[in-house]
Amino acid sequence: MNSIDEELIRPIYKNGRYQNPFDTWEDTPGLRNLFKLMRCEDFSKIPNQRELDKTLPVEIPDFEKLRNPPPSEMQIMWIGHASVLVQMDGVNILTDPIFRDRCSPVQFMGPKRYRPPPCKIEDLPHIDAVIISHNHYDHLDYGSVQSLNSKFKDKVTWFVAVGTKEWMLNAGCQNVIELSWWDEAELPGRPDFKFVSVPCQHRCERILLDTMKALWCSWIVRGPRKSFYFAGDTGYCIGFKQIGRKYGPVDFAAIPIGAYYPRWFMRPMHVNPEEAVKIFEDVRANNALGIHWGTFKMTREFYLEPRTRLEEELDKKSISREKFFTLRHGLVHIVGRDKPEHD
Ligand code: ZN
Ligand code: ZN
Repeated sequence: MNSIDEELIRPIYKNGRYQNPFDTWEDTPGLRNLFKLMRCEDFSKIPNQRELDKTLPVEIPDFEKLRNPPPSEMQIMWIGHASVLVQMDGVNILTDPIFRDRCSPVQFMGPKRYRPPPCKIEDLPHIDAVIISHNHYDHLDYGSVQSLNSKFKDKVTWFVAVGTKEWMLNAGCQNVIELSWWDEAELPGRPDFKFVSVPCQHRCERILLDTMKALWCSWIVRGPRKSFYFAGDTGYCIGFKQIGRKYGPVDFAAIPIGAYYPRWFMRPMHVNPEEAVKIFEDVRANNALGIHWGTFKMTREFYLEPRTRLEEELDKKSISREKFFTLRHGLVHIVGRDKPEHD
């Protein structure tokens, strides 16, 4: 199909709420399914901190490297879950920042963090842009947004999908750019940087009454030399092939690999590692980092299974483990130059 003539997939908007336009979508979180989910066996088996320090060590970031990123390469750091720092073409970008202990409306209950963030928001280098994939608590955290605002004030631009701008303004964000799928915007002061909201298959809600009132998306970021794709939170859908045809290849992608079990419940919303590899292929990524795992207790697969299954799938498809990799929390990594390795 010719990328110019192709009809781009758009979200459905009806009665003030968004819908997924994909055949692969199914609305699973009904009350009956939630009860069934409660009875589902939990294989996560998250061990004690001493064991975690061995299996998922958290490094103190090399702040010198963060302050002086190489000018012509991409430097990245996995902060944990879907939070990644990407340094490209002189611009520092944060994805779905969450630095708090729980991803929940309250800090005394909800999914708890079992690996700490490698640094505080105060320790980060200057942040020019933050991209938000959607409004779930593990991706959009009020406390983290506020801390970023008090540190970076009007220097930071927030990119969100339609329906979330008002929330961001209420949280004190000064520059908010709200886009629907396939809309593009420049980074203020850097016309050579383009941010594009692109499709993914997910859902949105923060309270019971606002289900699907805001849109979800993934993001393409194009700098003068490098390009980056942030998949956000997603089930597998045909959107990725379109993204690949229109914006691929990309130098680097951050793709979720965790929070997928049980499949009958999670499949429409969260890819498993095999589907994550399909996204990697569809968007034509040269390199990718596995995210959305190893940080919060969200679902019921064994806590290290996302990494193992990713590696097995890569081996099966003869894709190098150096192309689609996982990183230690806090490790500062130059894409395509440093050898990715875990413990
Ligand atoms: Zn989500
Ligand atoms: Zn999530």
